[in-house]
Amino acid sequence: MRKIQMVDLQGQYEGIKEQVNQGLEEVIGSAAFINGPEVHAFQKEMEEYLEVKHVIPCANGTDALQIAMMGLGLEPGDEVITADFTFAATVEVIALLRLTPVLVDVNHYNFNIDIEAIKAAITPKTKAIVPVHLFGQAAAMDEIMELADKHNLYVIEDNAQGIGANYLHSDGRKSKTGTIGHVGTTSFFPSKNLGCYGDGGAIFTNDDDLAHTIRGIVNHGMYERYHHDVVGVNSRLDSMQAVVLRAKLPHLDQYNNDRRDAARKYTAALAHEESIITPLVCDQCDCHVFHQYTLLIKDVDRDGLVKHLQDKGIPCGVYYPIPLHRQKAYQDKRYNEADFPVTNQLVKECISLPMHTELDDEQIKFITTAVLDYISNAKS
Ligand SMILES: *Cc1c(COP(=O)(O)O)cnc(C)c1O
Repeated sequence: MRKIQMVDLQGQYEGIKEQVNQGLEEVIGSAAFINGPEVHAFQKEMEEYLEVKHVIPCANGTDALQIAMMGLGLEPGDEVITADFTFAATVEVIALLRLTPVLVDVNHYNFNIDIEAIKAAITPKTKAIVPVHLFGQAAAMDEIMELADKHNLYVIEDNAQGIGANYLHSDGRKSKTGTIGHVGTTSFFPSKNLGCYGDGGAIFTNDDDLAHTIRGIVNHGMYERYHHDVVGVNSRLDSMQAVVLRAKLPHLDQYNNDRRDAARKYTAALAHEESIITPLVCDQCDCHVFHQYTLLIKDVDRDGLVKHLQDKGIPCGVYYPIPLHRQKAYQDKRYNEADFPVTNQLVKECISLPMHTELDDEQIKFITTAVLDYISNAKS
């Protein structure tokens, strides 16, 4: 059996090696390292794939969120509502811009931001909602957009984990996650579903004016060379990363299908065990791209399972072990533990199994057997 990895990027590289190597050589030959033709070509291809008017590449997914908030003109003191159960980047940029983060609980069925919790958190100072499509599964965008309309709020989708997922609207239409809110962001960090070989990110919007504003912000606030109209940043995707992304983008749907296949096999092997809650997996639904395959472990010690798997050479992850509202940097007197029942439970019970495009049946069998062995031993 091949060594089990949390993410297998070497295996995936084998399928795109020629294109990547040739493209990298061409970039080196042309010396168009920054803002070269590869970046522009990738931008166009990404716009077509997502069916969105504007893709603005940038340096990473954290920058993408920050720049989106700058582009919307959010100001210090504005309240921004986001999920308590997510990677810290989401709340970090809110705080960095001196906006006021308002963390709210998530729901127990897909771990995404809870609609009732958003409603309860809206005040006259609220300016934006940042839903995160956590672990690759679309948040309830129809409900979120409806709330945003009603209260005149911006919606910034953090799609770092959900690239390629389709959201099914209540009227039967489908949209790619990241293109439904006023602006969406993603990350091309190597382990993401569409990852480059370094850092990268992008911002998506259908709003021409906002796209124009953002194109200036990513480039030192310049709309005309050496004229700095607004305070900007330096945030660029480089040509080498664009080569890798262009090689991978045509395979993204297949990559996401491979992840769904692995998820179905995990679930088929584990769902009968009553101490395990498997993620929602529906056959027709392509709203989940399984950035992570995350179980909840009931009745037995989750940390014991982590150790058992590690002893067997099986990597796993606990995303996320501490709720953001309890992190030193983001604590706030306004938060009340009783307002975060779901997050507080998830941090104790969640465990993510290896998930990538190269998992084979033998590996999945080995992993699920190890999980079931631990649980039956722990219960006996
Ligand atoms: C990875 C990630 C980010 C940040 O992306 P970087 O490219 O690492 O800066 C932001 N939000 C979420 C939910 C992420 O998973």
